[in-house]
Amino acid sequence: MIGLRPDPQQLVGQAWDLVVVGGGITGAGVALMAAQQGLRVLLLEKQDYAWGTSSRSSKMVHGGLRYLAQGDVRLTRESLQERERLLRELPDLVHRHTYLFPVRKGSFPGRLGLSVALMGYDFLAGIRDHRWISARALRQRAPLLKLKQLRGAMSYTDAVTDDSRLVLRILHHAAAAGATVVNYSAVQRIERAAQHFQLHIQDQVNGANYQVSSQKVINATGAWVDQLSNSSPRVRPLRGSHIFLPAELLPVTDSYTLPHPDDGRPVFVFPWHGVTCVGTTDHDHTDDPQQEAYAHEHEVRYLLTLVRHAFPSVQLDRSDVISTMAGVRPVISSGKGLKPSQERRDHAVWESGGVVSVSGGKLTTFRIIALDALKAAGLIDERQYRQLRKQPRMLANAVTVPAGLESPAGAVSAEHLTATLLRWLVAQEQPVHLDDLLLRRTRIGNLTADGGRGWVRTNQALLQQVLAWDEERFSAESNRYDQILKLYYN
Ligand SMILES: Cc1cc2nc3c(=O)[nH]c(=O)nc-3n(C[C@H](O)[C@H](O)[C@H](O)COP(=O)(O)OP(=O)(O)OC[C@H]3O[C@@H](n4cnc5c(N)ncnc54)[C@H](O)[C@@H]3O)c2cc1C
Repeated sequence: MIGLRPDPQQLVGQAWDLVVVGGGITGAGVALMAAQQGLRVLLLEKQDYAWGTSSRSSKMVHGGLRYLAQGDVRLTRESLQERERLLRELPDLVHRHTYLFPVRKGSFPGRLGLSVALMGYDFLAGIRDHRWISARALRQRAPLLKLKQLRGAMSYTDAVTDDSRLVLRILHHAAAAGATVVNYSAVQRIERAAQHFQLHIQDQVNGANYQVSSQKVINATGAWVDQLSNSSPRVRPLRGSHIFLPAELLPVTDSYTLPHPDDGRPVFVFPWHGVTCVGTTDHDHTDDPQQEAYAHEHEVRYLLTLVRHAFPSVQLDRSDVISTMAGVRPVISSGKGLKPSQERRDHAVWESGGVVSVSGGKLTTFRIIALDALKAAGLIDERQYRQLRKQPRMLANAVTVPAGLESPAGAVSAEHLTATLLRWLVAQEQPVHLDDLLLRRTRIGNLTADGGRGWVRTNQALLQQVLAWDEERFSAESNRYDQILKLYYN
């Protein structure tokens, strides 16, 4: 298990084979695959685990129909195989889920085009799950959907997860395989010495500076990769935002792919942990990269416009939005000045000055991305790479998390965050701040109308006792949390 946050001084002087920089899904995957090879691995995360893009995705573990539409059969097949693997190996966390693609008179793609695409999609995954739903059946299933010219819908399955819990779960497995993982540890500089690398780190909890040395370094810092890569910039940061709406106002049981009335872009409307989520947008992210990303008001308006258009009887306005969430896609730039949605979404691995950098890709394909990075770093050879790609099981060690923590009805609601669960989270998952607990260990902050502030007030004594916070620290944490919600999740 991840366990308590180690004292950084314990890390100094140890002989690390590999330091992984970045505690999103990519870094977690690299740490897992490397530790399972018997390497001595240290993972360092500047903020909290999954603080970056990996807690802000559309929560889909998917092949990506758009990749197939773009003719990228290899990427689609790879993603679908990984989807099936995650469904098998993490059944409590990754769930098969129905997606509906409504078809209207004259809409593109029509029923035939979708049938052909989904036949190929299912074939690549080795399943047969797609089918046509008549307009009548669709009206019963989705009574709020706009009826005009509705012909029916293509139904198919993909999978859905809780992305930040997925990162934590992979980190638990990495730790069980021997990796050491530390959050709030910013790598400021990487120096190459004769036989090893020297990493200059600042502990973000107490401000202390220290150094560790390692044989190899993999820079898995997502949208921030260019800051440590030693090479010319590769990433085009693209922001994608979501809004969370009360399920009472917009109840959905399936996920819908709906064309936006302004530009035809597909937008998802899906049920998640008891609320309805709508997203995403796709914009060049030009805000300060050191600031947490937030959904700009024009993005919120854009998503509400889609809802009003697709579900005309639903009366919604800005005040109904429970919360927003924005993430920055680390898209490898083509350098051709394409529109954001035309840029390819696959990952890249490159080396410069001995540092291997990896960025781009998807949540779904983290295992393949990790193997590519390990091969580029010379930590596995071609033969091992081929074997590992085909290995039947990814997760070698058993890891037990409290019942319900990762299920959709679990600890995401305030009443499920009991004293016992809180103690477990503090002992096993290194929450340092209140926002770690309420935005990434659980989702109370995203999913409750008050962002969990009421729960915090009611449970002040418990929080202070379990986290050993005095009055002053508790008050500082509450203020910090209020600010974060107001500025980045409102
Ligand atoms: C809106 C949106 C929707 C998406 N939807 C999906 C989806 O449905 N399905 C899917 O498969 N994929 C999806 N993706 C893609 C997926 O979320 C990302 O590809 C993936 O999360 C990237 O993970 P990462 O670990 O590379 O980056 P991140 O999760 O950003 O992790 C990088 C980490 O590095 C840390 N870091 C930065 N600098 C330093 C430093 N100096 N020292 C230490 N640590 C540092 C950061 O704090 C961060 O936590 C989506 C992306 C977006 C933006």
